[in-house]
Amino acid sequence: LRWRFPIARFRGTPLTIHWTWPLACAWWVAFGPSTTASAWLRTSEIVGIFAIVLLHELGHVIAGRWRGFIAKEVVLTPLGGLAMFDPTPSRRRDVLVVVGAGPLVNLVLVAPLSAALYFSSIRFGAGAAFDLFGLLLVGNVLLLVFNLLPIVPLDGGRLTRACLSSWMSASASEVAVSITSFLCSTAVLLFAVVAGDVLTASIAIVVLFGSVRAFNWHLYWLRRERQDGIDVSAACPKCHEHPPRGMTARCPNCQATVIWLGCNGVCWNCGQPGGDVQCIHCYGQSSCSLWFATNEPPKLS
Ligand SMILES: [Zn+2]
Ligand SMILES: [Zn+2]
Ligand SMILES: [Zn+2]
Repeated sequence: LRWRFPIARFRGTPLTIHWTWPLACAWWVAFGPSTTASAWLRTSEIVGIFAIVLLHELGHVIAGRWRGFIAKEVVLTPLGGLAMFDPTPSRRRDVLVVVGAGPLVNLVLVAPLSAALYFSSIRFGAGAAFDLFGLLLVGNVLLLVFNLLPIVPLDGGRLTRACLSSWMSASASEVAVSITSFLCSTAVLLFAVVAGDVLTASIAIVVLFGSVRAFNWHLYWLRRERQDGIDVSAACPKCHEHPPRGMTARCPNCQATVIWLGCNGVCWNCGQPGGDVQCIHCYGQSSCSLWFATNEPPKLS
């Protein structure tokens, strides 16, 4: 997500567009799947799609503010947007509200887009109306449905994980979601191959490999947790999850295996400070002392 440009601010949150956006716009106007020959209509379509993606992300931002999370940036790419929060909402109810708000915006948008399609088809005829509002309506519904698939970087994956974590531990729900991500991205890959859609197929392959990596990672820590238990005296300052007891990582200086939380962030082998300790759940890095300073009550799980 490098090379992005700020375009506006929304209540203090910078909105940036990725450099691939202008490229995608040019491609759409020149060769896009639209049936209309009119450059004006094609431009309106791309502006409409941009607006739908933007409104979806603003849904996350507004819901985040309501739950006390400030988005530090919203990045818009042609494949969708990304609202970045720091800290990221991690408690179940916060995740359900903040992540769910995006798809909810798409659901709400179905009504005005249907109305626009209906009234413009009366005024300008079905063909022209479908070119703009029909396409936007279909695009909006596709975005809604696709985004709710239980695949991890998508909203659906994060909602699924939040729901599962009411019945199982954080690590177990992460393993479960990596399996649903694998199955769904395989299905998406097959559909894309059959449809000859190269772009979707390549994204599905990237997600597929990511889900295998996530599965291995979370399964390893789930087994460690089953074996050694959870260290309730420490908690990640970012996501508030407890680490597995004896959580190890490699020393960046000497490659020794170190329990950073057990030696106050200083390597037992080379005596160098290891920097921040990484959380196995949210991958956030926080300084060692903060893991013990959060004063979070133990989570009931
Ligand atoms: Zn979203
Ligand atoms: Zn964490
Ligand atoms: Zn070391």
